[in-house]
Amino acid sequence: AAAIEVRGVAKRYGTRDAVIALDGVDLTVRQGEFVCLVGPSGCGKSTLLRMMAGLHRPSEGEVLVHHDGTGRTPTAMVFQDYGIFPWKSVRANVRFGLDVAGVPRAEATRTVDSWLTRLGLADFADAYPATLSGGMRQRVSIARALAVEPEVLLLDEPFAALDAQLRTVLQEELLALWQADRRTVVFVTHSLEEAILLGDRVVVMSARPGRILADLPVPLPRPRS
Ligand code: ADP
Ligand code: ADP
Repeated sequence: AAAIEVRGVAKRYGTRDAVIALDGVDLTVRQGEFVCLVGPSGCGKSTLLRMMAGLHRPSEGEVLVHHDGTGRTPTAMVFQDYGIFPWKSVRANVRFGLDVAGVPRAEATRTVDSWLTRLGLADFADAYPATLSGGMRQRVSIARALAVEPEVLLLDEPFAALDAQLRTVLQEELLALWQADRRTVVFVTHSLEEAILLGDRVVVMSARPGRILADLPVPLPRPRS
């Protein structure tokens, strides 16, 4: 079944819509897919991802996020610069979305503990982001996104700021999470290498204006680093 449908989408920015970020984009993301959007800087990857999150509206066309009927949060997003709250502890960051959603206290506590454990954060639950490495901060951001059990997990260059070794570790962790849960994932990167490593489908975009150039299945088994 389709999780997200992008139909005839164009996006223009600026006075007189001078910047054509996207033009004529059609894309269907199916439930359980790990789709990587890859392309050069400026090809509209972030714009497309933000539309899926409901943060931007298309200038033309539509972006439909279908619900799977479980009543879960439709999408959660992870950003390159983590986007976690510096004034909250790790535990409070991961708990944030559950409190907003009105999840009962005891259930929220169980859920938070389980995600802290899955992301290797249990020993850092009471720490504050400023004391953590980039990799740990990104784990907090991922745990916070996954704690609300979103139907679709959206990630915008989440590992770009990490050194190569840490990036490999987090890539492996994300892949293991996906293989365990088969949650729908849309992952933006400018690295074709990363796209092929992670995605079971790679959507290649070109710039000026942003368009889909190729849409490729990645055959299993995946290349491993
Ligand atoms: P990517 O994520 O592939 O680097 P973006 O979606 O960030 O691409 O940007 C696509 C194009 O739209 C670029 O030319 C960028 O400069 C432009 N753009 C993005 N956001 C805005 C904005 N808020 N206002 C004006 N132009 C924007
Ligand atoms: P990315 O890392 O995804 O390529 P950018 O660094 O291009 O993102 O953009 C960061 C932010 O600035 C985004 O919110 C984007 O919408 C906005 N932005 C990008 N290009 C422009 C632009 N030409 N004018 C105004 N805002 C922009």
